[in-house]
Amino acid sequence: MTHLPDSCDLLIIGGGVTGAGIFHEAGRMGLRVVLVERHDFAWGTSSRSSKLIHGGLRYLKEGHFLLTRDAVKERERLLNEAPGLVTPIAFLVPIYKNHGPGRWTLEAGLSIYDLLAQKRQHRYLDAEALLTQLPFIDRQALTGGYEFWDAQVDDARLVLRLIAEGRRLGGTAANYTTAVSIRRDAQGMATGAVVQETEGGATHTIGARTVINATGCWAEALHPEPSAKKHLRPLRGSHLIFAHDALPVRQAVSFVHPEDQRAIFVIPWEGVVLVGTTDLDHDRDLNLEPAITREEADYLIEGVRTLFPSLGLSLDQCIASLSGLRPVISRGGNRSPSEESREHDVWEDRGLITIAGGKLTTYRKVALDALKAAQPYLPELKDGTVEPSGFEACQDPIAEDIDLGPEAWQRLCGRYGGDARIVVAEARPEDLLPIPGTQTLWAELPYCAAHESVQHLDDLLLRRVRIGLLLPEGGKDYLPRIGRLCREPLGWGLRRWHRETFRYQEYWHQAHGFPWLKSPESILSKRFRQLKRRFIQLLLR
Ligand SMILES: Cc1cc2nc3c(=O)[nH]c(=O)nc-3n(C[C@H](O)[C@H](O)[C@H](O)COP(=O)(O)OP(=O)(O)OC[C@H]3O[C@@H](n4cnc5c(N)ncnc54)[C@H](O)[C@@H]3O)c2cc1C
Repeated sequence: MTHLPDSCDLLIIGGGVTGAGIFHEAGRMGLRVVLVERHDFAWGTSSRSSKLIHGGLRYLKEGHFLLTRDAVKERERLLNEAPGLVTPIAFLVPIYKNHGPGRWTLEAGLSIYDLLAQKRQHRYLDAEALLTQLPFIDRQALTGGYEFWDAQVDDARLVLRLIAEGRRLGGTAANYTTAVSIRRDAQGMATGAVVQETEGGATHTIGARTVINATGCWAEALHPEPSAKKHLRPLRGSHLIFAHDALPVRQAVSFVHPEDQRAIFVIPWEGVVLVGTTDLDHDRDLNLEPAITREEADYLIEGVRTLFPSLGLSLDQCIASLSGLRPVISRGGNRSPSEESREHDVWEDRGLITIAGGKLTTYRKVALDALKAAQPYLPELKDGTVEPSGFEACQDPIAEDIDLGPEAWQRLCGRYGGDARIVVAEARPEDLLPIPGTQTLWAELPYCAAHESVQHLDDLLLRRVRIGLLLPEGGKDYLPRIGRLCREPLGWGLRRWHRETFRYQEYWHQAHGFPWLKSPESILSKRFRQLKRRFIQLLLR
């Protein structure tokens, strides 16, 4: 709180990809900009997506042609500007005689997709060629399939890179800081906001020439959508995460779920495989951590078992789950969740601009639209200033005696931009190796602990690096080594470390485990965890 200025040109509320994208662009335009985030940066939807930077083939089918066009354009730009963070991924689409889209429907959709990207990147495979790539899929009634290319990202790291670069451009960004109310003058013009330490309670008023509310699913708490016909409709999407050994795919697979004919993805990511997603109205308290329900898990298991019958997949083989809330602007009517448009919407009320909806992929377009809406209050943003910018360059590395392959270096550059050099410079040689079972280097942990506003262990293990989603039980087995590496840069004593590891494990089981799975082992281990926690709490007292 003490680092927050009393005034700025632009105050952004919300530290997901939308807020971070605006922060980055506004910094580049020379504005004095402040961003506040109630939890951690990327805590909301922006760390819980399917991690695709894609045009969204299915949006073509639903007639959202402009959204697909913008998204494909952004995909191409991000692939160029952020290698190592945004990487190409091949998709396979099997074609079955008895269900799902047929060959000519797919050919038409993929041709339009390629036309938008202005490059041909799909091809038809006969059944035999498809089976060489996907030997475990259902062979009955398989006639062939398509291969095409899209891209994927580490979503939370995209947000963190935008925040880090925005800070280097002079902006201030604070996590664990809640905007509790919008400040207005006698004429009702927004002049800033009252913000509060989320965990401490101290308050501070930040004056601003204009305020952007980029709080995703929570946007209507600060300002309701003014059109009676529209409202925010939070839609929950959940994924199961399998170890690659259990679901061995090298390419992503898109297929149609037998129950409701919705498109489901199987996506290899960072050494694990995501299966998702669901698309349901979220009727639970928006302030509670979203989590997968038993029905969603059963639905996803049923889908993936139908496609890969020979693998005998079950919930026991999942290492984690992931649930997020789509901030979808509903245009009313009786649309099913998947029929709702993913386009974003901006509304403005006397200096308070609210932006919601959109996609991770199109974050920059969304950010620029928000800044356009801010132009009346920030006249220095004349037409032409509001142009997309790229990422800062990542200069060439590192001393020759540092043993880091080009792929690992590109990965670091993608995730840390110009700071990749610091990750390496501060590392001990033995920490420039990957954490087993992941591509994450041990060295990333102390770097993030020292430089990236980590307040809790889940910030570090679920969003700065993603090992909480990549390793069984959130990486529990590595906690002792993580403690040895990170306690000092975090400034945490032993007591704080133990408190944080308990908090982390509890949080992980609620948000990323399967808390409703009541196998005898899970009941026993839950009971054991509770007893262990109580015992340590007693000791600490
Ligand atoms: C399951 C799922 C899969 C998806 N897959 C993809 C995909 O593959 N590709 C793609 O392009 N898009 C995808 N999306 C969509 C994309 O993830 C979202 O559109 C995007 O992340 C929304 O970002 P946001 O910044 O608007 O919201 P959020 O990321 O939710 O950020 C809003 C932030 O505001 C904060 N906040 C709320 N109230 C306050 C307050 N009063 N003060 C301060 N801060 C506050 C919240 O804590 C939160 O961190 C997916 C979405 C879901 C749910």
